[in-house]
Amino acid sequence: MTAIHPFDLQARAEAAARSLVALLDPQRDGLMYFLGDWRARPPRADHSLWDCGDGCGRHTDALTLLRTMVRQGSPAAMPAIGDEQIEAWMIRLFGENDLTWLLPEPFAAPWGPQWLLVDWEAGTPAAEISWAQRGTLLGLLTRYQRTADVRYLHLAQRHVQGLLRVAQRYPQGLCFPEGYYRPGGWHFHGPNLHPALEEYNAAVVLPAIHLYEVTGYIPALDLAEGLTRFALYHTPSYLPDGRPRTTEGVNENHFHTRSNFALSVLKVGLVTNRREYVAWARQCYAHLQSWGTDFGWFPEGFGLRHGEICCTTDMIELALLLGKHVDRAYYADAERYGRNHLLESQFLSLEQMQRALEIMPADDRPAAWEGRYSTIDGVAESQIGGFAARSTLNDAFHLDAPAMMQCCNAAGARGLYDLWRYAVDEVMTDDGKPLQLAVNLRFSVETPTLRVVSHEPTSGRLDLTAFQPRRVAVRLPVGTTEALAVSTTEAGNSTVTELRAQAGYVNMDINSQQTLSLYYALPERTTHYTVGSPGRTLSCTGTWRGETLLHVEPPGPYYPLYQRAVDLEPVQPVLPAQMPLDSL
Ligand SMILES: [Zn+2]
Repeated sequence: MTAIHPFDLQARAEAAARSLVALLDPQRDGLMYFLGDWRARPPRADHSLWDCGDGCGRHTDALTLLRTMVRQGSPAAMPAIGDEQIEAWMIRLFGENDLTWLLPEPFAAPWGPQWLLVDWEAGTPAAEISWAQRGTLLGLLTRYQRTADVRYLHLAQRHVQGLLRVAQRYPQGLCFPEGYYRPGGWHFHGPNLHPALEEYNAAVVLPAIHLYEVTGYIPALDLAEGLTRFALYHTPSYLPDGRPRTTEGVNENHFHTRSNFALSVLKVGLVTNRREYVAWARQCYAHLQSWGTDFGWFPEGFGLRHGEICCTTDMIELALLLGKHVDRAYYADAERYGRNHLLESQFLSLEQMQRALEIMPADDRPAAWEGRYSTIDGVAESQIGGFAARSTLNDAFHLDAPAMMQCCNAAGARGLYDLWRYAVDEVMTDDGKPLQLAVNLRFSVETPTLRVVSHEPTSGRLDLTAFQPRRVAVRLPVGTTEALAVSTTEAGNSTVTELRAQAGYVNMDINSQQTLSLYYALPERTTHYTVGSPGRTLSCTGTWRGETLLHVEPPGPYYPLYQRAVDLEPVQPVLPAQMPLDSL
């Protein structure tokens, strides 16, 4: 594989697409291995309940997005056999009551039955009501957006109806009272079987509200609103000042549960014009930020020193939505989280991966089920292009949790797409006419109206070429308030214009086919970070240039992150393989 430019989003998308279909089980029609153990020798991947619904839905969504954004003419623009196998699993698991079900296999038994279920009897069929339903509805919606094939839409509508049928109805909204639905119905009624179960079980709100937004399907709005209202009313998981309570039970401590819920509440608030939901989500986002770092690392659980990429992508999506609808200042968060921890967590080097695996202490515990549901076939190779699920501040691995999770591969891919899709946004007037283009994130991106070539972090320079005359606003790095715009005519005469930022953006008019170079300062700073909890902390020092974290000291022992080059040629973007979809 030729080396990938560290800021080339389209090349990264190709690598991610390869990885998402590289760890499938040929004995089981391409069912994915969702989990992996990096300390097994050789590294081993295992089937788990998350293969079902959650994994195959998330991957179907992510692959569709990746194959949209890769370069025109890229081989990765075409689906692989793995795409079809993963999608076939997503649809095959859709069954009784119009829900997606777990496979009747030992490896797919419910997780946490002692907390999330009442009177659990092993061997009973179960529909995981949270992430599995979310993943499947997400996958169906994105396939429908991409293909306009009504089979996906009809399945998505049936899915929503199935979820509405099994939901318990209360004056405060809709409730899924246990973590799993069983044939014959719920064994518990009402809220609070386990702390934060209401947020956990509202996971499907996000694709449901987006389905309503895209298609106008009212039952999807009813589902999203009902689950959100109930969870907000009954959740015990916030302190009086609004901070997340972080200490009671496994779901309450799970950051992704909380960040996905904040994202869902924000989206419901934006789509239904409920300003109180938007305000709540803004506050919740600010509290969640305080548990991570300003470069986009967020913990898998509150107080842990290893992270989860699902959380990074949730926080990027929160920042992008807040930037688009509430205050453009939030785009700075999306840029820092994206160009730093999201990109830096993607495995691009097999050599570096193998070196890390050699020096990580081995764990010789045998695979569960005598290895019948596991593979050791090319696991490390399959993860090149995937994401370090549980990285720490300075390393792709931390011995606290050296395991692979496919949720993070899909989330990382989705995050790449979001950065690419929303880097340049068309701002419309109230009556739907194009008002201006906004460069919110300074990546190299090409759209039919604007080509952006970014020289960061080597220098503070963007080359902007307009294909139609446009007013363009560009967000400067936080701390930079002025820029120089240099345009050169065909005759070779240069014009230099000094620009002052207003609310973080400089504005300029660019004529059709004109290229304008924008020069600005990239302020340098050094910041100290400590994460974890007493007795189990990790500290490091980061060196920044503009909004790029260049170096972190000390370097991690296994797969050190943030040893970034500072003398890069800029990425030359090209138009994508297909018309962009709205992912948020
Ligand atoms: Zn994850």
